[in-house]
Amino acid sequence: MRDMHRWEQLRPEEFLTEQERAPVVYCAFGPMEDHGLQNALGVDPGKAHEICRRAAHISGGIVFPMVPFAPAGAPPLSREQMLTGEFPLFPPSLFVSVELCRNVAGELFERFAALGFRLCVGFGGHGPAASLLKQMAGEHNGDVTGMSLLTCGSTTYTADIIRESGGDDPKPLSHGGKWETAMNMALNSDYVDLSRVRDIDPSPIPSQLKGRTDTQLRGIEAATVAFGETLIDTAAERLAAEVKGRLG
Ligand SMILES: [Zn+2]
Repeated sequence: MRDMHRWEQLRPEEFLTEQERAPVVYCAFGPMEDHGLQNALGVDPGKAHEICRRAAHISGGIVFPMVPFAPAGAPPLSREQMLTGEFPLFPPSLFVSVELCRNVAGELFERFAALGFRLCVGFGGHGPAASLLKQMAGEHNGDVTGMSLLTCGSTTYTADIIRESGGDDPKPLSHGGKWETAMNMALNSDYVDLSRVRDIDPSPIPSQLKGRTDTQLRGIEAATVAFGETLIDTAAERLAAEVKGRLG
């Protein structure tokens, strides 16, 4: 069975018919990145792509294949900075330079516009990817040769729900926390093994999740597929509503 909103699964006439019906293209960006020993590495582009896919089923439109490139750091690192070895890059995470990401996203936006899309959703499934996309949209005044750009990130549409369900966790929006782990579970429950959460600190593998408090670790262990589904569905509904509003 095919998904009639995924670019790579459509035949040319089907693509053109869908594009005519809803001239919006969704494009999700994110790196392969450590999110703790419990998570498979593709959570960032994976969740962003899935939110886009579900949004396209509501708004119409076409989803480009996930772009597995994003920069590290805030502000995002240049290639020169990465080559100094002075910045932690948490292998086996794989980030690329901000200049490459800027070129990739910039050219994709130009090509989408040349193909006749009227609106592009640039979804950064990773903090520095979202901030770069937002910056690029600002530089273009939200418009690339007649195509509007709508940029967003992983928590743009669900920060309220993540905070409400945070319990006693003082930082419910933390990297690799309950919210991201739950969404990764919703993508595929085999992508997550919650029994590994307590192994993060003693492990020799570097992780941005080292040093989390017991409260935070308990929060991650409370992640469920159902919570991940709620977050992905809610983000998709809210994003699709904004897209429909823009398409008019
Ligand atoms: Zn993430």
